[in-house]
Amino acid sequence: MRTERQPPPSVQAYLEGWLRRSRSPAYLLVSAGGIVAGAGGDLERYGLEGLDEGAPAAQAVYLLEGLFPLDDSFVLFRVETPAGRFADVHLFCAEEMDCVLFLDSTQEVAERAEVEEALHRILESLQRETDNALALPRAMAVVQDIGERRRAEEALRQSQSKFQAVFENSRDAIGALSAANHALVNPAYLRMFGYTHEAELLGTPFLDVIAPEYRESVREQARRRFSTADLTAAYETKGLRRDGSIFDLDVLVSRYECDDETYTLVILRDITDRKATEAKLIHDALHDSLTDLPNRALFLDRLQQALNRLPRRRSAGLAVLFVDIDRFKLVNDSLGHHVGDYVLVTIARRLTSALRSADTVARLGGDEFVVLLEDLAASEEAFRVAERLQQELGRPVRWHDHEVFVTASIGIALAGAATSRPDELLRAADIAMYRAKRKGLARYEIFTPEMQADALSRLQLESDLHRALERGEIDVYLQPIVSVADGLVAGFEALARWRHPQRGLVLPDEFIPVAEETGLITPLGDAILRRACEWAARLPAASPVSVAVNCSVQQLNSAGFADRLGQILAETGLAPARLRLEITESGIMSNAEAGLMMLRTLRLLDVRFHLDDFGLGYSSMSYLHRFPIDGLKIHQSFIGPSEVSPEHQKIVRTILNLGRDLGMVTIAEGVETPAHLEWLRAAGCDYAQGFLIAPPLPPDDARALLAS
Ligand code: C2E
Ligand code: MG
Ligand code: MG
Repeated sequence: MRTERQPPPSVQAYLEGWLRRSRSPAYLLVSAGGIVAGAGGDLERYGLEGLDEGAPAAQAVYLLEGLFPLDDSFVLFRVETPAGRFADVHLFCAEEMDCVLFLDSTQEVAERAEVEEALHRILESLQRETDNALALPRAMAVVQDIGERRRAEEALRQSQSKFQAVFENSRDAIGALSAANHALVNPAYLRMFGYTHEAELLGTPFLDVIAPEYRESVREQARRRFSTADLTAAYETKGLRRDGSIFDLDVLVSRYECDDETYTLVILRDITDRKATEAKLIHDALHDSLTDLPNRALFLDRLQQALNRLPRRRSAGLAVLFVDIDRFKLVNDSLGHHVGDYVLVTIARRLTSALRSADTVARLGGDEFVVLLEDLAASEEAFRVAERLQQELGRPVRWHDHEVFVTASIGIALAGAATSRPDELLRAADIAMYRAKRKGLARYEIFTPEMQADALSRLQLESDLHRALERGEIDVYLQPIVSVADGLVAGFEALARWRHPQRGLVLPDEFIPVAEETGLITPLGDAILRRACEWAARLPAASPVSVAVNCSVQQLNSAGFADRLGQILAETGLAPARLRLEITESGIMSNAEAGLMMLRTLRLLDVRFHLDDFGLGYSSMSYLHRFPIDGLKIHQSFIGPSEVSPEHQKIVRTILNLGRDLGMVTIAEGVETPAHLEWLRAAGCDYAQGFLIAPPLPPDDARALLAS
């Protein structure tokens, strides 16, 4: 075969031919070890003019694209030289010189094909002639090696530049510690701790940037990591800035090896904001947003802890005080919620300042507050605290020109040996508080087991009352009011009666407070008002007596009351001048300014107002004369029981004088004996009402009384 073919031209000869044909070629001769053994051609073009023989070929060219074997003996690939020039490379291998890289950037495709063709031919013959089977793979391995090195270097360069970018621009502080001292810190690290130059930190201990009281725990962290060979750890601690300020810090540490040395990488984050948010969330979950007092959950928790401590402090007692503001709804309804809120905040402040700092005051919601008293030497101490709180709350709350008066009813529950559950104790105090309310507000009661049963029946009453209205169980009785001068019936007072299906007749003193608390008082009061007006309108024309209807302040302040009142008058046909609305003195005076507005509006309808239970409340004299009030009803306690006592005589006389001076009629309630009536006549009282004349009567009986 050899004789049939042309003898192979030497590589040297081929090179010369190729150089002639190519426009800007260069070549490198590369030994089997990847070392440049020679170079020639237009080396300048590729930035290779300074290339030394003996330099690694990888310094001269970097493989950009993989090897493209054109066939098993010839490869074409693309390289980049250090000067950033690109070149296509033809690889040719020969035994003597292992391989030749032909650099060629301008070769036309057709020309290249020609060259390739030529190369191919040369290679073929070379292989055949010189059994160069080993040379080619070796050469290819060299080139591959060059490529891989280049790729690895590139990856390293990229990751280094990535790391550098992260390191420089990170908002987290990043530092490397060598033997627990700063060896490297990024700009964020300097900013975080208030330094300006790296040099200020490098070489200093890491613990220097940790708040002194946290250093031991950080040291402990490091020790633990070291002993467990854990490479990474995360913890929270406090940082120390250069100016001495302290802040919350999140720390992430990991260990790494570099140049046979162990470093600790620390990544630090300022978590002051996160900590503050967390703390606020926790605070909000356990506190009332309006007053910032502890809420029910926190109170129950503290109560539980106090109960747990109780057995250990044998001599000391514990009490829960349930404080409920009396008729608070009135403040809200008449002055608006912003005033209501202001009053609640004031109450919260007063409660807190009236107690020891160890005691807990919490707001359960609405107008309900609870107090936890610990270390009580005797239960009397709890009573004294209750009295003190009531005194504190009794002071008027000033809101611009208004003075809001509130009182509180307080229920006290003492933790006995058997009491252990916080919720039970709280409920007991709640029940006692209700008892205090029912006994007439502004007082305190201590829980007794009997109250429990009572509370249950009261709960029953509440649900029964809802149905009573629908089922028409509420009746209106009428009690005559006579003129003291001539004994003639001048009018009637309508009084509510409840025919309870199981309990029989229930009196208003029992169910009106329940109706007021549940808000049922408005529909109930409206129904009674309508019935009373109807009854009075149907009386014979010859007896145009008045009818007085008790009106709760809540009903009076309910939305649209004036309209409903006008409608009732129009529909029943009762002349408005014959209607008197009885409003309790304490109710209207608890919020005099709003009451004044309300009464003036209603007065336009031509109805009259009487102040009920006069003498029990604290009327502000300056208001009294501005109120469109037509009459004062003297509370029965000033009249009874048998005679008007000398000291009550003075009070009643004062009221009678006041009524006269202000042009108001006076009506005495609770007139039970002829002596009462006699005294009232002598004293100059206008009207009298009481058992002496007649008890409250069913409607027909009352009408009959008129006819007689
Ligand atoms: P009040 O308006 O002061 O009514 C007078 C109370 O004295 C009535 O009690 C009446 O039965 C009672 N009474 C009458 N004469 C005598 C007497 O000679 N001696 C004594 N000791 N008491 C006498 P009652 O009917 O039990 O009503 C109690 C309170 O309930 C009323 O006091 C009033 O404030 C309230 N009330 C009654 N009905 C209604 C109503 O329809 N709406 C509202 N909001 N309150 C009502
Ligand atoms: Mg009355
Ligand atoms: Mg009265």
